[in-house]
Amino acid sequence: MDPAEREDPVAVSRLRQISLARLAQFDIIPKRDLGQNFLIDDNVLGVILGRLECRSDDVALEVGAGLGVLTAALAEAAQHVHAFEIDRSLEPALAVTLGGADNVSLHFKDILRVSLEELEPAPTVCASNLPYSVAGPFIIEALQRLPGMRRYCVMVQREVAERMAAAPGGKIYGVLSVWVQLYAEVRKVRPLSRSIFFPRPNVDSSLVVLDRLPAERLPKAEPACLRAVIQAAFGQRRKTLVNSLAAGLRITREDALGLARSLDLPADVRAERLTPGQFAQLAERLAAGA
Ligand code: SAM
Repeated sequence: MDPAEREDPVAVSRLRQISLARLAQFDIIPKRDLGQNFLIDDNVLGVILGRLECRSDDVALEVGAGLGVLTAALAEAAQHVHAFEIDRSLEPALAVTLGGADNVSLHFKDILRVSLEELEPAPTVCASNLPYSVAGPFIIEALQRLPGMRRYCVMVQREVAERMAAAPGGKIYGVLSVWVQLYAEVRKVRPLSRSIFFPRPNVDSSLVVLDRLPAERLPKAEPACLRAVIQAAFGQRRKTLVNSLAAGLRITREDALGLARSLDLPADVRAERLTPGQFAQLAERLAAGA
């Protein structure tokens, strides 16, 4: 019999919460390697939607639909939802949670192998309970490729939230911090209790809101050039900025030194001392052939 039809009424009534109900109904064992820690606290859904300030004409993007609790809430609030899920075995459970909602496009794909700019209609808001291995790379790609996305309200590991918001000078300040802060204003909204997820994760999580900066405050440099500069700069953290740029961008040490000097940076400065704005300036000077 189709698992959707063999709902055990007793078990399900004890497990009113939708994620728990679906796990029981479909005998799903969460996959740790895919970061399957499902949301089991419906109050948090309200917090996420409240922070997202989703409008009825918004197009929402969700990464990792899982058992569909957040997807269903987004479908009620937004005009359209693009929900990505890498694990096709969750499809029957997800279909039951969504109950035939006709404004949800389900994409059973790896979000890191998708051309985000081709999504139609284009997303304007993002709400997700992001799996650890995906959070940083996805945010970096989305900020570059989805210019129409005005707000992200995402659950991430606390360590990822701290890296996004880190100030220059510290150990955790790196590619993610610079990139995110060049494109968005970051707010670490609140820590999340481990008990809102099943299975309970071994690490802490935070809710983070990113608001895209207005066009006039965005970096002027080509994103590809900017990214190459930032990645090269942090490529070898123990080296000086000049040596890292020379190695990572395959330019001469003299040219790298010229770039640093054009910003009045000392020859022995390290990447973690530069502000996001200084990285943008470096990329502009590089593109201009300084
Ligand atoms: N949104 C659901 C919730 O809050 O209960 C599930 C969140 S769970 C933390 C993360 C989900 O992302 C899992 O269902 C997992 O299978 C999915 N996932 C993991 N890697 C992915 C990837 N590269 N692309 C799309 N989905 C992915």
